[in-house]
Amino acid sequence: MSTDTNSTKPTVYQDFHLQYIAGEWQSGQDDSVNTNTNPYNGDTLVEIQQATSKQLDEAYQAANTAQKEWAQSTPAQRAAVLYKVVSIFDQRQEEIVDWLIKESGSTRIKAMVEFSSARAITLEAASFPSRVHGEIRPSNIAGKENFIYCEPLGVVAVISPWNFPLHLTQRSIAPALALGNAVVLKPASDTPITGGLLLAKIFEEAGLPKGLLNVVVGAGSEIGDAIVTHDIPSFVSFTGSTSVGKHIGELASGGDYIKQVALELGGNSPFVVLKDADIEQAVKAAAFGKFLHQGQICIAINRIIVEDDIHDEFVERFLAHVKTLSVGDPSKQDTAVGPIINEKQVKSLKDKIAKAQEEGATLLLSGEIKGQVVPPHVFTEVTREMDLSCNEVFGPLVGIIRAKDEEDALSIANDSMYGLSSAVFTTDMRKGLRFARGIRAGMTHINDISVNDESNVPFGGEKNSGIGRFNGEWVLEEFTRTHWISMQHKPRDYAF
Ligand code: NAD
Repeated sequence: MSTDTNSTKPTVYQDFHLQYIAGEWQSGQDDSVNTNTNPYNGDTLVEIQQATSKQLDEAYQAANTAQKEWAQSTPAQRAAVLYKVVSIFDQRQEEIVDWLIKESGSTRIKAMVEFSSARAITLEAASFPSRVHGEIRPSNIAGKENFIYCEPLGVVAVISPWNFPLHLTQRSIAPALALGNAVVLKPASDTPITGGLLLAKIFEEAGLPKGLLNVVVGAGSEIGDAIVTHDIPSFVSFTGSTSVGKHIGELASGGDYIKQVALELGGNSPFVVLKDADIEQAVKAAAFGKFLHQGQICIAINRIIVEDDIHDEFVERFLAHVKTLSVGDPSKQDTAVGPIINEKQVKSLKDKIAKAQEEGATLLLSGEIKGQVVPPHVFTEVTREMDLSCNEVFGPLVGIIRAKDEEDALSIANDSMYGLSSAVFTTDMRKGLRFARGIRAGMTHINDISVNDESNVPFGGEKNSGIGRFNGEWVLEEFTRTHWISMQHKPRDYAF
């Protein structure tokens, strides 16, 4: 690692205008340019000449070649690279957090949450090379032995979103590499650095052999579909919106080869407050789980559902609390709500505000939208049919729905095409568990927010929230292939 002469700090990474293909930093060859801007002040951070489909092919060929040798490496060799990545994360924490703030509009609080999650999954992945194992199963056929091998998939395509770019990229690439695969990654256009190029710098510094990780920054029209339909990848790990995820699923099964997919898609998390809840705690949780990263999180609270008996008190206390949140410059220590990622998303939020009012919701708290900063908007008298309830908001707007009783609250919570995360507040733990088990979702948190992700427990959803699970042993299955090999020790008697 290179260091400044007068300090022990590593030299900050540079040259983010280049692509990382076949272990070399090279210029994109497409005519188009990705202008990467700071969503808070509009500053240009870097201009990246985008990649062509020919460069994408070069990345896949390099990954395919490098993977063969990597699959033969020892578990200790692979683990060593991941441990080194963790140590570089620690040395470069400030630099990484700074990029998250300026490129993805993360507040300092969110940037630290994201940094910690990405570090945790890297550490967890360092254990995967020695945790992955096969099995020997008995056979009903005399003289036969059944071996089940767990092998790397080969080359994996990773497509990641802009909202938690560092973590949501790393939670795919760290397990993939740990398990003997190679990766071709396409980060989101709004976050090519924190969603890809920065991680490539870190893995390169950690000594990952050339060709195993490729970061291709390109226009959706040039490489979007090609990254999925290319012959080399056998698996596509996609995290993003449900609409694009459905398209990826179709592409993955529509070409010459059917590819396995993991689709981590949108959410519509209910946050249910039952009448015996600790209201003060529920209020604080609702504000944090809704407004962290301006609500741009797949597992952010999307609907607050409150039992009638405590509805008015909850609303009053929630409004009082939300009014205290500081809004604006994400680099300031105490900012709770920073900027929205891009103008298109701001426009979509303005449309949602107008629609909620048209549909008859009451806007109790709002504020002036300045540039890309949208202050918290709180609506009451929201019903389950309204747009705010049915669709993912992905911004600092929230509707509060009144539920008649526990049964009604559960019915509203389940009235969604999504099934990612959810939460329920109650002081009665039996009731909480009963309620949680009644929710159709991949994740439910009792007396906590819906925004939770731990590297050793399964993360994922059902319904339109996707298929597949991240973290712990669940991701071991995603990034390996199962191969049954039987051995017939004694000749069998065949019927003819
Ligand atoms: P998006 O679907 O617009 O984009 C996701 C990625 O797909 C980006 O890299 C984008 O460039 C790429 N892409 C777009 N079209 C493509 C195509 N035709 N072929 C290949 N790649 C293509 O999503 P977004 O706006 O970046 O992220 C927000 C969405 O992601 C929200 O719906 C959110 O809920 C979801 N999300 C889900 C999870 C989860 O774990 N379930 C986590 C974070 C975000």
